Amino acid sequence: MLDVRDLSVNYGTIRAVRGITFTVGKGELVSLLGANGAGKSSTIKAIAGALKTSGGAVTLEGRDITSANPEQVIRAGLATVPETRDVFPDLTVAENLMLGAYIHRRDHAGNRENLDRLHTLFPRLAERASQAAGTLSGGEQQMLVIARALMARPSVLLLDEPSLGLAPAIVERIFEMIETLKKSGLTILLVEQNVNQALAVADRAYVMRLGAIVASGTADEIRSTSDLSAHYLGG
Ligand code: ATP
Repeated sequence: MLDVRDLSVNYGTIRAVRGITFTVGKGELVSLLGANGAGKSSTIKAIAGALKTSGGAVTLEGRDITSANPEQVIRAGLATVPETRDVFPDLTVAENLMLGAYIHRRDHAGNRENLDRLHTLFPRLAERASQAAGTLSGGEQQMLVIARALMARPSVLLLDEPSLGLAPAIVERIFEMIETLKKSGLTILLVEQNVNQALAVADRAYVMRLGAIVASGTADEIRSTSDLSAHYLGG
């Protein structure tokens, strides 16, 4: 589904991502783990077309999206939830959601249907539809940005650290939602520092350190074979 081959990202002389290769199969939930600065966000941004790659190739369902811009990437079927979790604070929850449907803006019936589905999945967003997004709690804003990305009707969802800065009970709910999305057949690449929780929902995982992939396998294999604290904490 999503194939990343020899991907490199440089910031001037800083080599943030050093020729990494990984795949996410249809319907799979794959986690990309690693400590601060490992290169996870740079990888996500490069795939999403938000950052120029310095080498390598990204293909989605066999289609080369390496040099595509963010809108072209979304149109190809890949939506991203960045770690910045930015909502348009003065717009309502409903207006924020409709912005996510930009590429389908003429398909009113399809958007209504998708919105109903997302309201079932995120009832809190239905309750808060006319509230300004800036007044939502952190956990609600995270739900909103995930739901907004899903309004684009992607076949692959990239989630960058959805649990960042949220209270444990909220993190629990966010992960439950990620599992529900996986069960609905969505293909997901989940970037996380929250290793235990990410492995609990992932089919497979890759561990990054200093811009390279240092371990990969099923969640069980990663748990049992790699020295997670060394890779994850960079120790
Ligand atoms: P975090 O979880 O802290 O976001 P990460 O694994 O996502 O970490 P990246 O944000 O991709 O890591 O950063 C990888 C490396 O690239 C780091 O050394 C970082 O300092 C560097 N880097 C990231 N963004 C820039 C930038 N805009 N300019 C220069 N260097 C950058």
